[in-house]
Amino acid sequence: MKLYEKYPVYLTNSLSRSKEKFEPLTPGHVGIYLCGPTVYGDPHLGHARSAISFDIVNRYFRHLGYKVRYVRNITDVGHLENDADEGEDKILKKARLEQLEPMQVVQQYTNSYRLAMAQLNVLPPDIEPTATGHIIEQIELTRKILEQGLAYEVNGSVYFDLKKYLQTGQYGKLSGKVVDDLLVNTRDTEGVEEKRFPLDFALWKKAQPQHIMRWPSPWGEGFPGWHIECTAMSAKYLGVPFDIHGGGMDLQFPHHECEIAQGMGAFGQEPVKYWMHNNMLTIGGQKMAKSLGNFINLQQFFTGNHPLLAQAYSPMTIRFFMLQAHYRSTLDFSNEALQAAEKAMKRLFGSLKILKNMEHPGSPQQGTQDQALNHFVDQLYQNMSDDFNTAKTLAVLFDMSAKVNEFNTDKSKLKEAGAEAFNRFKESFQTFILDVLGLHEESGRGHELLEGTIRILIELRKKARAERNFALSDKIRDDLKAIGIQLMDGKDGEINWTIE
Ligand code: ZN
Repeated sequence: MKLYEKYPVYLTNSLSRSKEKFEPLTPGHVGIYLCGPTVYGDPHLGHARSAISFDIVNRYFRHLGYKVRYVRNITDVGHLENDADEGEDKILKKARLEQLEPMQVVQQYTNSYRLAMAQLNVLPPDIEPTATGHIIEQIELTRKILEQGLAYEVNGSVYFDLKKYLQTGQYGKLSGKVVDDLLVNTRDTEGVEEKRFPLDFALWKKAQPQHIMRWPSPWGEGFPGWHIECTAMSAKYLGVPFDIHGGGMDLQFPHHECEIAQGMGAFGQEPVKYWMHNNMLTIGGQKMAKSLGNFINLQQFFTGNHPLLAQAYSPMTIRFFMLQAHYRSTLDFSNEALQAAEKAMKRLFGSLKILKNMEHPGSPQQGTQDQALNHFVDQLYQNMSDDFNTAKTLAVLFDMSAKVNEFNTDKSKLKEAGAEAFNRFKESFQTFILDVLGLHEESGRGHELLEGTIRILIELRKKARAERNFALSDKIRDDLKAIGIQLMDGKDGEINWTIE
């Protein structure tokens, strides 16, 4: 029996706004598409939250035994500053300000995004397609929508004909937006007159003479609209329909709403079975914005180099902090919350270290603790299978830590556990921390030196006790405690330590 049969996954589908049992389109396989970054600036917390949320989805499906194809794109072209298909291309603007060739901007921020993701232990996607690498597919898809009579060409640009689409299709079902309300809120902007209907959106835009990123097309030189790239690349690598499309909540409208309309227009069917969205985050209760001065990028978090940061926060602290909340909850960053996360994570790794060195005596095969130990493991799976609830999963891991400490302080308790249940408990604790949640200990040279130094002190203390020099052995223990290092005496003379 596969793990996914034993612990079936339930996830919240944004389309139905309810929790549904996950049934893959192809048994045993999962296709996931996540809208990746637009590469024109330093990766920030918003990027991290989306990437980590879906990294968890990717990791857990794999752990359960599914064969996963995970696609996360790089948006490196044609993403204009506002949703009315007007304004400056963000990449071109950055290139102009920094006096770089646009593809230099794209390469630079693609590199910094990949570096930050690796630091956060986000697994790389199976396929990472770029918009510039799929211009032909986007042109083909635009042509297909034109053939269906759901798009029209004006002055070298092609727009999706939303009014026509509305005769049979629905627009707003994902975001809950109502077309009439949207019309009221649509500002008259220059260029709108090209559109037959204010909510029509660009599939292809004619390039103005100063526009550098441009490609030939049947409609003249131009560049693709933003929404069409995700429809073209997801269809190419995952087929139509595919299982899961993810992204931040802010992409529901218009980006994902437009993807549904394009998919319906081009393929005559819903392109995606399950839509999943991660919620937004705030800093000190405020939305993150350059104008508010609270826009902290990931490298600034990692180095502590920002006026709002009391210290540096390691990539794993950021990851752990994010996992303490469910992906559908909003999340507020503060120094206090990050410091608390840092401490909690150290406690968890302290228990992991103790458990790694703990071996079951081999007998009995069954014990009075078995039911409790197996229950912990089942809870890990049940919480992850319940819409990837990492917050509750972490809570179970902390309950398990308490059990580890109990075994450690009183080794006779280990004999109350059967070998099989203990080994399952041990393996699951380790697997969920390292593989499913993707956390790892940030050791480094500093940590190795600390580890070695404390080991020396522990040996000196053992010697002092053996010589009945209790004044010295107590002093070593108390002085370490005063700087936040706690020694824990085991019954059989073993001494472990943790950072409080
Ligand atoms: Zn997208």
